[in-house]
Amino acid sequence: MPELPEVETVMRGLRERLEGRTIVRATAHRPDLRWPLPEGLQKRLTGALVTGFRRRGKYILMRLNGGDSVLLHLGMSGRMVLTPLRPNQPTPHEHLVLETDDGWRLGFVDPRRFGSVDLVPTRQEDAHKLLAELGPEPLDPAFSPARLSASLTGKRTTIKAALLDQKVVAGLGNIYVCEALFRARLSPQRSAHTIPGTRAARLVPAIKGTLLEAIAAGGSSLRDYVQPHGELGYFQHAWKVYSHEGEPCERCPGRPACPGIRRITQSARSTFYCPRTQR
Ligand SMILES: [Zn+2]
Repeated sequence: MPELPEVETVMRGLRERLEGRTIVRATAHRPDLRWPLPEGLQKRLTGALVTGFRRRGKYILMRLNGGDSVLLHLGMSGRMVLTPLRPNQPTPHEHLVLETDDGWRLGFVDPRRFGSVDLVPTRQEDAHKLLAELGPEPLDPAFSPARLSASLTGKRTTIKAALLDQKVVAGLGNIYVCEALFRARLSPQRSAHTIPGTRAARLVPAIKGTLLEAIAAGGSSLRDYVQPHGELGYFQHAWKVYSHEGEPCERCPGRPACPGIRRITQSARSTFYCPRTQR
């Protein structure tokens, strides 16, 4: 499932290719994804000039000159595929297609259909029901140790669960929570109410550093953002603990110092951590 760094990379790719372009045709191939597509979507997209992009949490906002923003969420399996316009070949699971005035074609492909597309007035983006309750952006200076401490005070869940809560901080998912906790040397099983104070002062920079490194791995130009078949944003990135069960972590000089990265299940999802250095 795409998390903040992947969504940021997709957004940057869309910005490079679509900003300043006019959508000459919009075609929806079904009436719904996770939710029904908004009324009149094709009509409101066709002829619109794309004026800019923004990311909020795991959402992408594409702004149009008519005052609408298109709110996009990739869900579990959604992909944005950019290709030169060619004689129309139907692609499986491609639900929405945008064609631009300079001969490009953007397809939203989503086999499992957990993704979503909506329209929201640009001036009221943050009031949209999917964005209104989101917590701070982790890379924003407002996401500080004091802010995190305040939202974790008295919280009885584990720190792993707390960081997955999009109201505490927006955009993190299973992978980058594991990576950030490894970097901060904090156990994923620790209770969230023990984090405020010095541990939050360690955790906040660990979250920011983990995300910035992953975003950097996504590249810095359109050539990096687009995969060979036109898919945006799914880059190779070396995780330090995620999916490395049983291997020594980079902090421990091999066995027996490191008992090996451990995998446990928390809220039905895998957590990976080093039991020796994460306390
Ligand atoms: Zn270790």
